[in-house]
Amino acid sequence: MIQRTVVFIVGMALLISCGTGKKNEMSKQSDSVEILDPHTFAKPHEVKVTHLDWKARVDFDQKVIEATATWTVEKSKKADSLILDAQGLEIQEVLLNGNESAKYYRGEEDVHLGSSMVIFINEDTRKVSVTYTTGRDAAALQWLAPEQTAGKEHPFLFTQSQAILARTWIPCQDSPGIRFTYNAEVEVPAGLMALMSASNPKEVSTAGKYTFQMEQPVPAYLMALAVGEMSFQSIGEVTGVYSEPSMLNKSVYEFANMDSMLHAAERLYGDYRWGRYDVLVLPPSFPFGGMENPRLTFATPTILAGDRSLTSLIAHELAHSWSGNLVTNQSWNDFWLNEGFTVYFERRIMESLYGETYANMLDVLGMEDLKKDMKSLDPKDTRLKLELEGRNPDEGMNNVAYEKGNFFLKTIENFYGREAFDEFVTQYFDTFAFKSVNTELFLEYLDSNLLKTDTVKREKLRVNEWVYSPGLPDNCVKVKSRRLQRVESSLKAWEDGILDIDELKTDDWSSHEWIYFLRKLSTDLSVNELSELDRTFGFTRSQNTEILAAWFIHTIRADYEPAHEPLESFLVSVGRRKFLVPLYGALTKTEKGKDKAKRIYEKARPNYHSVSRNTIDDMLNS
Ligand SMILES: [Zn+2]
Repeated sequence: MIQRTVVFIVGMALLISCGTGKKNEMSKQSDSVEILDPHTFAKPHEVKVTHLDWKARVDFDQKVIEATATWTVEKSKKADSLILDAQGLEIQEVLLNGNESAKYYRGEEDVHLGSSMVIFINEDTRKVSVTYTTGRDAAALQWLAPEQTAGKEHPFLFTQSQAILARTWIPCQDSPGIRFTYNAEVEVPAGLMALMSASNPKEVSTAGKYTFQMEQPVPAYLMALAVGEMSFQSIGEVTGVYSEPSMLNKSVYEFANMDSMLHAAERLYGDYRWGRYDVLVLPPSFPFGGMENPRLTFATPTILAGDRSLTSLIAHELAHSWSGNLVTNQSWNDFWLNEGFTVYFERRIMESLYGETYANMLDVLGMEDLKKDMKSLDPKDTRLKLELEGRNPDEGMNNVAYEKGNFFLKTIENFYGREAFDEFVTQYFDTFAFKSVNTELFLEYLDSNLLKTDTVKREKLRVNEWVYSPGLPDNCVKVKSRRLQRVESSLKAWEDGILDIDELKTDDWSSHEWIYFLRKLSTDLSVNELSELDRTFGFTRSQNTEILAAWFIHTIRADYEPAHEPLESFLVSVGRRKFLVPLYGALTKTEKGKDKAKRIYEKARPNYHSVSRNTIDDMLNS
């Protein structure tokens, strides 16, 4: 069984939960030292940060941030050092309580973790200030030249801190299990706007000076900053959109449903606790679909399809305001708690807005993504509880956490009924609000609050198999979509020569139906057949990036000439890793394609964030 251990340390009390269900986890713990997160050097049970005052100047010429991070700390009586995570930072000065110079040293550099920064403190130390400059190649920061933006006139900077990149721009205790509030004063070139994962301005400051507050405690991976030419437009009372001015109208149109999504989410699982919910639409090099920075989701412009058809991504990031930002995975080994819950919640929001048939399509597509990933992953990485120690936590960011996590929760819902499950989830978010949870604590809570109500069902559910075994258990809830089945029948009728391509009834198809159509399309179509499809449906000219990316897989394979140039310009401008991986992957299947991939990548690489660069570097050099 699993139990919760409460450890009290003189001068402070920390609730530390640990899994006792697994031997290897226990063996990592010695006496009072608990290593809860293998991706941080911090020892929060000795000295823990609780608040950050961050003063920064953003220098676009040097591509650095010069800053002072002043940490308020909480310490045990005996503790004599604060340990922070830092990577590539040039440290100028460390002060205690604002005036006393401190001794410190940097630990050995680890390729994934950076190094520890051990700062000696005194008994009366309450504040520790570190003055520093970020490295020229800080992995979290992406500096865009004016020509890489939509407006082409001003440079742009954005950060991506998840999973462990916050330490490349702020010396911090970079663990999802450690939370702090923050205030910031940020100076940027006049005329540009600065935004953070905090209370944000709506107007440009002529002096380029901005202040921010984040009153709710957040972990370091939710620290975020964007600087550039941006404007704001509100959508509802507490929702709105920021983007480069030329993208604003398009973005506002696309996200018109944000308010309804927020209300649907609140109806499902309780109050939204972060004040405002705004979305920032970034330039296209943003490596992810979205990042759930609190109060201000960062989103890729590749979801601006012009028909609001890809907005489940906003539902996803919004859902993170509960699963992830409010109740947080304690380490990246528990990543499924953030993402599985969020996918489940996202689909429930979409179901409330657009009905069950719509949500079913998302589930079927999700199941396909999951099965595909499971085939290519090492079986040990297909378990929900991951073992990422000694590895880059980015390796856990695949559909296992997202979709297997979602289907685990859906299966529990199926066993115990929606009403009981929803009640459980609401209570879970309440109980652990602004706290971190690991898999073992979650399972214990799930057992006591839901599973125990029916021990026969509990037996049949086989929770341990879901969480600790590879693959997908055979009791997984079955998902079906009538709308996607219709697509399959239409496709078959065309492939069997029963219907001509222009006889297919596609008028009411959403993006999801088109994506499914392209996925199911035979992989050995001739150039002539592709050409016929393209003439009828205009895939190569599609404004919908999901459809375009699914189409390019076929055009690459058949070396379909009319798509050569559009593919190249897509790869050069879009930095979203989800698209880059399959497209470069398809190119590298032939020698000719490999040369082409390398040639395009040489041009595209400067436009990609380090997160995408690392992945594609590996792919093309292996
Ligand atoms: Zn997510």
